[in-house]
Amino acid sequence: MLAQHGIMLTKSLGQNFLHDQNQVQRIAEAAQLKSGDRVLEIGPGLGPLTRALLAKGARVTAVEIDRRLHASLEQTFQAESSLTLIHADALKWLRQGPQDWSQWKLVSNLPYSVGSPIVIELALLPKGPSDMVVTLQQEVIDRMMATPDSKIYGVMSLLIQLRYRIGQRFRIPAGCFFPEPDVESSCLALHRRHTPLLTEDQCRTFVQLVKLGFSQRRKVMWKLLKQRWHADLLETARQQLELDPMIRAQALGLDTFVALTQRLHPTSGEG
Ligand code: SAM
Repeated sequence: MLAQHGIMLTKSLGQNFLHDQNQVQRIAEAAQLKSGDRVLEIGPGLGPLTRALLAKGARVTAVEIDRRLHASLEQTFQAESSLTLIHADALKWLRQGPQDWSQWKLVSNLPYSVGSPIVIELALLPKGPSDMVVTLQQEVIDRMMATPDSKIYGVMSLLIQLRYRIGQRFRIPAGCFFPEPDVESSCLALHRRHTPLLTEDQCRTFVQLVKLGFSQRRKVMWKLLKQRWHADLLETARQQLELDPMIRAQALGLDTFVALTQRLHPTSGEG
């Protein structure tokens, strides 16, 4: 198909196309689609996943940055009324476009260059997608799922897990892509929590807390947090939660960050 459309691949756009139909079907299955579901697909490429999503009765909006691929998709899917094709840089488009994705699912084999910013951008929206089924580098998927016992646990893990539960995950061998990527890949399903752990205002405080807490991994967390919160408030919270004065951010789980946010959040006039 690439040759037919005279398309040369661009490595910087993460153009590794999934040609293994079993894996395409597995990704589409992981989204647990019902007929009429609205799906956002970022980076449809030549459209194998798009086709599988449409076959499940989904109404798909697909955003592709590459003009040649966008043109080929328009041709391939010209008779398809359930597909809206958009030619845009998805990250820019998401930042400028609609902010309410609560009735949507994201199902994508993402471009690895911008995959994690896209998932984090959507995860942090007050009305983010109900589910996200994403294929990315295995290392990024590992970070998203990580817990405090792991070296790669950090800001990304917490920003995703604040609003999403970790669901099914499976590996996709490099040989299932053309060309084969240099890295291993995995698909991960994320499901939005029905009951939010924090209010919207508190979520903003959580983001500040996590980013500052992890800003220097070797430093004691309380020292870092003093740049933003008053020492007395931090000490009261620390004692209430019975936390070690020498603790580092990577030792604290999501629940503790949530509890800490509730205590540091400015109802106390801390601003
Ligand atoms: N979904 C296809 C598949 O499974 O074969 C293609 C996946 S390929 C890993 C990533 C796709 O994302 C490519 O088609 C690439 O052109 C597109 N892409 C890269 N950067 C993008 C961006 N910022 N916005 C939208 N699409 C992008």
